[in-house]
Amino acid sequence: MRRFIRHKGLRLASSLFSLLYPSTCPLCKKPTDNISCAPLCTGCWGSIRRYTGPSCMICASPLVSEYSRRCGECLRQAPPFSTVLNYGLYAGALSEAIHLLKFSGLRRLARPLGKLLTELPIPDMDGIVPVPVSTKTLRERGFNQTLLLSKFLSRHLRIPVHMNLLFKKKETLPQIGLGAKERVRNLKNSFEVTGRLTKRRLILLDDVMTTGATARECAKTLMKAGAGEVVVVTFARSSLT
Ligand SMILES: [Zn+2]
Ligand SMILES: [Zn+2]
Repeated sequence: MRRFIRHKGLRLASSLFSLLYPSTCPLCKKPTDNISCAPLCTGCWGSIRRYTGPSCMICASPLVSEYSRRCGECLRQAPPFSTVLNYGLYAGALSEAIHLLKFSGLRRLARPLGKLLTELPIPDMDGIVPVPVSTKTLRERGFNQTLLLSKFLSRHLRIPVHMNLLFKKKETLPQIGLGAKERVRNLKNSFEVTGRLTKRRLILLDDVMTTGATARECAKTLMKAGAGEVVVVTFARSSLT
């Protein structure tokens, strides 16, 4: 019964929402019909799928072959994190939602996006570290999207978010537009940890993982500062085009 009332309540709130803020879904151009994932419509949001195809057992990079278990990058050099738990591919409604949250400031999308992560088999860890942004980005954007998402996951997993533990100490070029090697060079020694992390097992949360340069650099910094283990959690894997 309570569920029924809640369902009715949500539908009413969604109708009120579309009356007050008439908008169209940026993907299919139909009117927005759901308050919880607006401006995306229910149909487009429902098209978000977890990627279950072949992927590297360490960094979750999608693989072309079902027979190899590690990607070339992880075989060449073992990453400083133990594994990457990734939700989907950076395409369709998932990429649109991440983009809207990050660049259009639609903070309310942190909730439905965060819910997706609860489907991942996240192990017992001591805390969550959001991938930090530089002071300049924070000033321009007004918020750090990985912190919003970490807060949601923190409530679900009942573990703390360490928001001031890892920070970005220098301005770097945007990673978009750089090649794989340039991305590594761009971020080298750009993060710092405050204090010592006595063997703490940490989740490093990032939104999108492309070459993994950011995750590697952050995890390296955390491990150097004494972390016991770093598990990376991301929403989407994207590839350099
Ligand atoms: Zn739609
Ligand atoms: Zn890999």
